[in-house]
Amino acid sequence: MPKSLQNFINSQIQLCYHVNMLLKLRKWFLSKILRRKYYRTGKCKACGKCCTQIYVKHFKHVIQDEKEFEKLQLLHRFYTYLKVIGKDDIGLIFECTNLDSETHKCKIHKNRPGICRRYPQEELFSMGGALSEDCGYRMEPIISFSEVLEKEKKKR
Ligand code: SF4
Ligand code: SF4
Repeated sequence: MPKSLQNFINSQIQLCYHVNMLLKLRKWFLSKILRRKYYRTGKCKACGKCCTQIYVKHFKHVIQDEKEFEKLQLLHRFYTYLKVIGKDDIGLIFECTNLDSETHKCKIHKNRPGICRRYPQEELFSMGGALSEDCGYRMEPIISFSEVLEKEKKKR
């Protein structure tokens, strides 16, 4: 085998090794330091579906009452953007007034609040929410089911 080809293969093996190490480090950081169970993959398709049909959770309960929500609006600018569009068994349902109803784009995209920039996060699941089927993001478990199973087997 020519030496240049051998060098190229070796450099690719080294690159894979380093990428693998970085992925393991990321996994460790997310699960052990940040205590996360999921990580986000994919990309936003700007469909605007997460900017409507919103529930608001304050501490441990989902907001059910408009009077209570008015008080929350004093706490964070994100709440001032929301308007009530309905109510169901879970609580009040809101839509963001910054959502352009024709283009389905955010009218303040560059200045949108941090909560919108970080969406989706795993807290979504803890309040009974779910990603829409069309959402470009997916939440993947940091520790896969097969890894958990392997650990359990070793304990026995
Ligand atoms: S501020 Fe923009 S990104 Fe955030 S919920 Fe409203 S429309 Fe969506
Ligand atoms: S539902 Fe998903 S893809 Fe659509 S705007 Fe929200 S984050 Fe982006």
